[in-house]
Amino acid sequence: METDRDLIIIGGGAAGLTAAQYGARGNLSVLVIEQMAAGGQALLIDDLENYPGFPEPVKGFDISQKMEQQAVKFGAEITYASVASVKKEGNVFVVKTDRDELKALSVIIATGSQHRNLNVPGEKEFTGRGVSYCATCDGPFFKDKKILVVGGGDAACDEATYLSNLTDKIIMIHRRDRFRAQKALAERVLNNPHIEVRFNHELKEIMGSQKVEKVRLLNNRENNEYEEDTDAVFIFIGSIPQTAMIQDVKLDEAGYIVTDRKMETNIRGLFAAGDVRSTPFRQVVVAAGEGAVAAHSVSQYIDELRGEAYK
Ligand code: NAP
Repeated sequence: METDRDLIIIGGGAAGLTAAQYGARGNLSVLVIEQMAAGGQALLIDDLENYPGFPEPVKGFDISQKMEQQAVKFGAEITYASVASVKKEGNVFVVKTDRDELKALSVIIATGSQHRNLNVPGEKEFTGRGVSYCATCDGPFFKDKKILVVGGGDAACDEATYLSNLTDKIIMIHRRDRFRAQKALAERVLNNPHIEVRFNHELKEIMGSQKVEKVRLLNNRENNEYEEDTDAVFIFIGSIPQTAMIQDVKLDEAGYIVTDRKMETNIRGLFAAGDVRSTPFRQVVVAAGEGAVAAHSVSQYIDELRGEAYK
C-alpha cells in the first residue's frame, strides 16, 4: 500500500496537535493539514485557567504554540492548506486539498467548529465595524465603551467576563430565563457589577451608519421591542462543526461526527477527535485527550492493516 503518510490529521487545534504528537512519537509518519494557524479555538482563549498542570492561567496562544512545538519535536509535519475532500479508495484515504492530493492509511478529522451567526439585519454589514465573535481579538477596541453580549453558554459567559475587564458598561442578553453555561461561569457573570444581565431578550437588528450605534431588542416575556444604544455587539451563540470535506460519515442530529470510544467513525480507518466530535463537553483538555485516544487507535488500526498487530 503506497501512501504519502501513515496518518493525515485534518485540523491543528488541541485535538489535532495532540494526535500528531502521539502518532509521531508512536513512530507513524504524520502530516497535520491546518487551514489557518495551528491552535484552533484555544488560540482565542485569553486566560485558560482549567488546563491541568497550570495553576496560574495560561494564554491560549502560548499553550497552542507549545503543543505545536511538541508535535514537531516528535517528528510530525504541519502544512497549511484547505482540505476539499476525503475519500476512501480500497484501504487508502485520498485527501484532496486546494494545493495537491495526498494518500494516507488513516485520517483523523480534528477540524473543530466555527462560530454560529445570528442572521439578523445588520450583523453581516457591521462585522468588523462593531460586530465581533471574539472578545480577545476585538475587545480592546472597545475599552470603556458600551458593549452588548449575546448568548447564554460557556463561551458567552467566559467572553463577557473577559470584556468586563475592559469596560463597566456591558449588557448581556439571553433568549431564555437562565444561562446554559456551567454554574461557576454563570455565577461569575451574575455577580459581576460590570455586567447587566437581561434574560428573555433577543437581538432583532443591529443599526448604525459607519459602525454599530444601536440595536433593537425584544423582551420576549413582555413582547416589548425597544432600542438600546451600544458601541459593539459580541455574539456567542454556539458553533457549527466543520465536516463539509467528508461524505458518508455518521453525524448526530446537531451535525457532529459520531464515533465509538476509540474515536473511530462508521468508516474503518477514519477517526474524529475534539470539538467536531459528538461529545457532551467541549474543553481543551477533552480535545487533547480525544486526540491521544484517536492516535493510539490509528496505530492499532495500521498494525492490523499491515498484519503486524500484537494480539
Ligand atoms: P453552547 O453551549 O451551544 O451555547 C450556545 C448558547 O447560545 C445557548 O445559551 C443558546 O441558547 C444560545 N443560542 C443558540 N442559538 C441562538 C440563537 N439563534 N439566538 C440566541 N441565542 C442562541 O455554545 P458555546 O457557549 O459556544 O460553547 C460551545 C462548547 O464549548 C460547549 O461545549 C462549552 O462547554 C465549550 N466551552 C467551554 C468553555 C469553558 O469551559 N471555559 C468556554 C467556552 C466554550 P439556549 O440556552 O436557549 O439554547
